[in-house]
Formats: sequence, C-alpha cells, structure tokens
Amino acid sequence: MAKISINLKDGSVEKESAPSAIVGIDLGTTNSLVAFINNNKPVILKNDRNKHQLVPSIIHFTQNGEIIVGDQARELITDSPERTIYSVKRLMGKSYIDISDSQESMGYTILSTDEDKLVKVKIDDCYLTPIELSSHVLRELKTIAEQSLSQEIDKAVITVPAYFNNTQRQATRDAGKLAGLDVLRIVNEPTAAALAYGIGAKNSEEIVAVYDLGGGTFDISILHIQDGIFEVLSTHGDTYLGGDDFDHSIMNYWIEKYELSLNQESGGKHYGQDLRLLAEAAKKHLSSNQVFKAKLNDMDIQLSRNQFDNLIQPLIDRTLLSCQSSLNDASLDRDKINSVIMVGGSTRIPLVKKMVSEFFEQEVNDTINPDEVVALGAAIQADILAGNRTDMLLLDITPLSLGIETIGGLMDTIIPRNSKVPTKAGRQYTTSIDGQVNLKIAVYQGERDFVSDNRKLGEFTLKGIPPMAAGMPKIDIQFIIDGDGILRVKATELRSNVATEVQIKSQYGISEEEMALMLKDSMMNVQSDMDHRALIEAQNEGQNVVLHTNKFLDQNNWLEVTEVDHLQELKSILISMIKEGTKDQINSAMDNLNTYSRPLAEKALDHNIQSALKGKEIL
Ligand code: ADP
Ligand code: MG
Repeated sequence: MAKISINLKDGSVEKESAPSAIVGIDLGTTNSLVAFINNNKPVILKNDRNKHQLVPSIIHFTQNGEIIVGDQARELITDSPERTIYSVKRLMGKSYIDISDSQESMGYTILSTDEDKLVKVKIDDCYLTPIELSSHVLRELKTIAEQSLSQEIDKAVITVPAYFNNTQRQATRDAGKLAGLDVLRIVNEPTAAALAYGIGAKNSEEIVAVYDLGGGTFDISILHIQDGIFEVLSTHGDTYLGGDDFDHSIMNYWIEKYELSLNQESGGKHYGQDLRLLAEAAKKHLSSNQVFKAKLNDMDIQLSRNQFDNLIQPLIDRTLLSCQSSLNDASLDRDKINSVIMVGGSTRIPLVKKMVSEFFEQEVNDTINPDEVVALGAAIQADILAGNRTDMLLLDITPLSLGIETIGGLMDTIIPRNSKVPTKAGRQYTTSIDGQVNLKIAVYQGERDFVSDNRKLGEFTLKGIPPMAAGMPKIDIQFIIDGDGILRVKATELRSNVATEVQIKSQYGISEEEMALMLKDSMMNVQSDMDHRALIEAQNEGQNVVLHTNKFLDQNNWLEVTEVDHLQELKSILISMIKEGTKDQINSAMDNLNTYSRPLAEKALDHNIQSALKGKEIL
C-alpha cells in the first residue's frame, strides 16, 4: 500500500513512496479513453479487444446477466435498444425534475416520476443508477489499462465538463470508486486539453478558449491560466448539438434526394441503422476528401464536401453564438484570447475549423488528435499528482472529504476530497419531523458512505427554528475552509434567518498512516457501502411514498371503494418491501403504486376544481 502524505499548512502535496501508476480517463458522452505517461509523453492505452482506442460509452445487458461495453455494445443498439444504454453522461447527477423538460428520448426506459430524486434506468427488474452504469465503462477502461501496462491499476484522474456541478462531479467520483478506482482528482475537460497543449507549464498568463464539439454535445470554455492555476471564466454550450446531428442532416438530405422510404424497405429498422452508419462514414470521409460515393441496396448515393458544408453550416453558426455569449460572460473581446484549442471528434471537420478560426480571428490549435486531447491531458494531470513533474504547480487540496450526517446515518459529502483550498460549498437541508425546532448537525471526515465508518470532527445544534411542518424549513449549511485549512460550518434557516456557526479546528490532525488506512478502507468496502446506501435510500423514498399515499387517502374520501382497496393493497406491499425487500423490490413496489395513483391524483385535481365551482372549499 502506497503511503500518502498531504500537508495543507506548508503546501506540500500528495507523494507516493511506492510508485503505482495513475491513469488519466476521459469519460465521454459518446466515447471514453484511458491514457498514461510513457517516457514523459502521454499515450492512449489500448488492448487487443478494442479495435480503436476509443471505447464507445455504451453498455449492453444481455438476457442472462452479462454486461458488454464498447464497440460490441454499440452494435446491439438497433436490435435491442431497451437493454443498451448510451449517453449515460447526460444523466449523471440528474434528478427527474432536471430531465423532465429536456427532449430526452432514449431507446431504454428512464423511470419517470416528478420527484426530486436522482434518475434511474430500468432493465428487466433491475433499477440502475447512472453511477452504476458509468462504472461499467470505467471498469472496461481499467481493464484496458491493466492489460496494456501489465499491472494493477487502482488510481485515476477523471475529466468532466467545466459546467458539471458538485452532484455531477460526486457522481463521477462514485462511479470511479465503484469501478475500483481511487479517483485522485476530477479535472475539467478544457483544463486537461490546455495541459495537453503544454499551457500552464510556463510562468505566464494566458487566456484560452477551448471549443469542444463531440458526438452529442457542444461546450465552449474560456480559461484564465496563471502560474498553474486554471480558472474557468465562463462556459456555454448546447447539450443537444454534435456529430450525431450532422449524421442526421446527411440522412435527411439523402432521404429527400433519393426518395428513400425508411418504412417500406425490407429490413425496417436495420435499413435506418445502415443509413445512419453510412451517413457517419460519409461525414468522416469528407473531413479529408471532396466526394463520398457508396452503394445502398444497389443504389448509387453520393455527397460532396460542398453539399455537406451547406447542410451543417447553420449548426456551426449556433456554436458560434455560444462562443459569443461566453466572451460576453467573461467580459472579453475576441482579441484578448491568446489561443483557441480544438477538442472533440467533430472538430476534424474542415468547415468547423475554418469557421471557428474566422470567428476568433486566429489560427486554431489542432495538432493534437481532437478526440484524444482530453485523455492525454488527464494523463499529464495524473503525472503531476504522482510527483513526476516539478515544473508544474499544484494547488492546495483537502485530503479527505468533509460532510454531515443525514437520515439513516449516511455521510453527505459537502466538500469532496482533493478540493482546492480555500474553498466554500453548501447545500440545503430540511427537517423530517413536524414542528422540529432544533437540528443537530454532525460533521464528518472520510470517504465511506456511512458516518459510523468515518471520523467525527464535531457536532452542533441549530436552535430556534420556528415550528413548521416537516420539509418546510430551508436550512442552508455552508462549509468554509480558509487558507490555513480551518473549517467553519455555518447553518442558517433561510425562512426565519436563524443562524449558528462553529469553527472546527485541527481537522487535518490525522496521521498519514491513519489517512492511508481510511482511504484503503473506503476502496475495499465500496460495493457493500453502495448497496447498503442504495437500500437505505430506497427505504427512505418508500417511506415518503407511503406517507403521501396516506395523506391522499385522507383527503379524498370520494374515491371509489375499489380504488381505495387497490391503493391500500399496493401500499401494504410497499410497506412489507420496505421492511424486508431488496432495493429493486422496493423500487418496483413504489413504481407500481405511483403508476396506479398518478391518474387518481389527476382525478382528484378535477374533483377539487368541480367542488370549488359548486361553492365548496378546495381541500
Ligand atoms: P464525446 O466527447 O461526445 O464523447 P468525441 O469527441 O469522441 O465525443 O466525438 C465523437 C464524434 O466525432 C462523433 O459524432 C463522430 O462521428 C465524430 N467524428 C470522429 N471522427 C470524425 C471525422 N474524421 N470527421 C468528422 N467527425 C468525426
Ligand atoms: Mg469529449
């Protein structure tokens, strides 16, 4: 076990006494890659199984419980869409409310409720979180790295979009944990890209625009880089714009030009899929050729570079609008941008390079493979963490995660480990009992899911909350770590402004050995912790649904006897599942109850409106 030493006071950082490889991972919406530093140069790792170095971020679940990731999974999308999960990154750290207004239409089932809970995907009788799904992609990358480097890999740096919030970053970190990786740092994708281009190593100040056009998303980030500190000045983008849209434009163009009909042709969905693959092939071919020609069911079809450019120009125009917005947000004119970096497979398209270059009025940086640049940068970051690059500065970081205890003894992390200090982060909580006037806040440090396995730093009570129904108070808890590494915790009830604050000193008074042990512990117990956490979360969620159902039954005495009976029956099934079922059984019982009660709730609404019209009071 490598020893880890971190001293926040004097600024020295993580060092490994026994070197063990740290890999850099780009966990993409469309494709993922793993990279490592070899002879001072970052290289993308591959094994015999993956034909290309890119691993499509696609996970297929076979009928008999096997899990297939990557190219092979991609081939199964058409035949078995309901068991083949793609674009998981869009769901990371998202609640049902977050995705309810997006035009999400996947071939697989995302559970739908209008609750403020994290989304789950349903396959057969299993309910899978985006964290579990992403962990399969990460596990595949870990295997590739292990086979390629002939050693066990348990440490990684993973990249995320600059706009990812705390929950999304935490979800990515958890996915790493679940895949058996200690995620030493979460790095912004544009930061990694800049690192790959060697920006940040010099003792200079630069403003960089990173233009990232991938398979399904577009991001523009403007970074200010000085003395090794990467600051994101602004980010913009479009979460539904990328190479897939170019493929669709080509398909539609061909359908119209050659009067193709997707439905009538033999082959049905396969024909549509073939056409899509052909469109993507045409797009890629046109990045380095002027004309694309092919046969589709004995018909000659073709597309010229010019025709393609006309099709996609409006889409590229949209990305430039985002670029302008991000300049505006950063209060910068385009002539203040020192370099423009091209990221993402779709920036291979000549028209994209040309239009971006014209917009920023300068040559763009495209010498590094655009779909590898983020992973290569992540490998450089990993190398910095491994202590192999003294030319680069590292920021002060928190050695272990800090958080508070929530219902069920769960650790709710507020400042994740390896956050830069000074730092500040907060979250809102509420009460769980009607009329609750005091709230005990217990602060913990550590990586395990249950506070009992972590180290308690202190405890205090927020007193004098005005009595309200459970769930009504809005309690804001802020964690503030100053430059000296001292944590202050502040709790405020926002409706009444009742506040209290404590200072928690010497939070880093843990020996190196103790810290290494805590980290090792958290690595070894990931699977059981996650299972236990998922069960407790499902139980808590189930309890809420039971309470709601009781309220609903109380308030709606006009319901028909059969409806009441059925609701009661579904409710008691749920109650018994909460008592002794697995998380999947609880989820399934909840799902059944919700499905049955949803139309009744609509009926209740109508009923109440009618009662009101009759001069009665609304309940
Ligand atoms: P993400 O970051 O979203 O995971 P990538 O950066 O890997 O995605 O980009 C994938 C997209 O790049 C796909 O739409 C793919 O068709 C496109 N792409 C890859 N190579 C080329 C090329 N030579 N010309 C045009 N588009 C390409
Ligand atoms: Mg990407």
